Amino acid sequence: MKFEQYNISPLIKQSLDELGFKKPTDIQYKAIPSILKGDDVLAIAQTGTGKTAAFAIPVLHILHQRDRYNTRHQVKCLVMVPTRELAIQIAEVFVKLSKHTNLTILGLYGGVEQAPQIKKLEKGVDVLIATPGRMFDLVSQRHIDLTRVDILVLDEADHMLDLGFIKDIRDVMRYLPSRHQTLFFSATINEEIKDLAYSIVKNPIRIQISPKDPVSKNVSHAVAYVEMDDKRFFLERLIKEFPEKKILVFVRTKVRAERVFAAMERVGIQTLTMHGGKEQDDRLKVMNEFKKGNTKILIATDVSARGIDIEGIDYVVNYDLPDVPENYVHRIGRTGRGVQKGQAISFCSTEEKPLLDQIQQYMDKDIRVMTIDKTAYIETITFTEETPNDNWQLLLDEAEQEDAKRKKKKKK
Ligand code: ADP
Ligand code: MG
Repeated sequence: MKFEQYNISPLIKQSLDELGFKKPTDIQYKAIPSILKGDDVLAIAQTGTGKTAAFAIPVLHILHQRDRYNTRHQVKCLVMVPTRELAIQIAEVFVKLSKHTNLTILGLYGGVEQAPQIKKLEKGVDVLIATPGRMFDLVSQRHIDLTRVDILVLDEADHMLDLGFIKDIRDVMRYLPSRHQTLFFSATINEEIKDLAYSIVKNPIRIQISPKDPVSKNVSHAVAYVEMDDKRFFLERLIKEFPEKKILVFVRTKVRAERVFAAMERVGIQTLTMHGGKEQDDRLKVMNEFKKGNTKILIATDVSARGIDIEGIDYVVNYDLPDVPENYVHRIGRTGRGVQKGQAISFCSTEEKPLLDQIQQYMDKDIRVMTIDKTAYIETITFTEETPNDNWQLLLDEAEQEDAKRKKKKKK
C-alpha cells in the first residue's frame, strides 16, 4: 500500500511526496492505523526503520482533522525525548510533515536561552518536542500548559521510562487530561520496562517488528580484539585506509573523547567531538559540521547513541564497548538507516570482555569475531606509510560476506 491510498489529509500527503516517502515502512504500516484509531501503542522496531514518521504522520493528521482552521494553538501533543539533538531532529521531521497545515511545532531543550523559547510558546504551539529538564522549568514558570495534551509520545521509550526519567514521566502524566493517548516507540525494550509501560497505560496495542533480532538488517557488525593501548593505532589505520568514509566513533566518556581527538590530531587526522561536557552552541555546530561532511570523523559518547539520523554514516566504530548493553544496538544503528547499508566494528580489549558477554547475552547471540592475525596486528601498531594499506578492507569484506552468509542460512 502506498501513502497515496491512506486516509490522511492531502496536505500531509503532499509533504510525504516532497520528502520522497512513497510507501510506509513496516512499522509505519502497522502503527499508523492503530494510532489513528486512538489506541495506546507500544511500538518496537529496529533502528532506522522510520519510527519518527510512524507517530508523526498520524499525530499530525489527528490534530489537523480536529481543527482544520486551528486558530487556538495549544500544546495538544507532547513528544518527550532524551537528548537535545533528538528534540531538534524530531521537531524538524514534524515541521516538514506539517508544512502545508497550519499546525505549529516547537523543539524545546536546555543549554540555550529561555527567552526566545518563551516567545514562541506565547505565540502558540500545537506539538511540543521536548527534553524533560527545560520543559519542567517552563512548566513550573507557567509558560507551558500541559492540561490540553491528549497525545503523549515517548520516543526512545525504554530509556525515557528508565530510572533517570520515570519520575519526570509520572509528573507529566499528572498534568494531562484523564483521557489521553500514549505512544511508546523504541528499538529496544525489556520485560521490566514493558511492565512499567503497562502500568502507565491500560491496554496498549503492542506492535513489534522482527522481535528476534534488535539489530537492523542493514548493519553488518563484528568485534575485533584490540588492547586498550593499541586502539588508537587501529582507529588511525582505519581512518587512513578509508579517507572518504564518514565514521562515527563511540567512546565511554567525554574525557576519552577528547583524548582520542588529541591522539588523532597528532597523526594529522581532523575529527570532531560530541559529548555532554560541551556548550550547546558547540554541540549544534559539531552536528551540522558532521552532517555536511566537512569533517568526516565524529567521536561521541552515548549522548549520540540513540535516535540520531545522519545520512551517509558508513561506519560505526565502538572504540570502547558500551557499558549499557542495549546501547550497542543503538550505537551501531546510527549506520544502515532507511535503505542504506552500514558496517560496525567494535574494539574489545581484554578487560572489556565481560561487557562483550553482557551485550551478547542481551542480544541472545554472538557477535562475529574479526580475526586479526599477529602480523597484521603488529603491522597496525607499528603502522608507517609503507605498510600495505588494505588490511581493514579485507577484514570488513570478510565480515560482510560472513554476515550475509549467516543471514541467508537463517532464512532457509
Ligand atoms: P528510527 O526512529 O526508526 O530509528 P527514523 O525515524 O529516524 O528511524 O528514520 C530513519 C530514516 O528513514 C530517516 O532518514 C527517514 O527520513 C527515512 N524514512 C522514514 N520513513 C520513510 C519512508 N516511508 N520512505 C522512505 N524513507 C523513510
Ligand atoms: Mg528514532
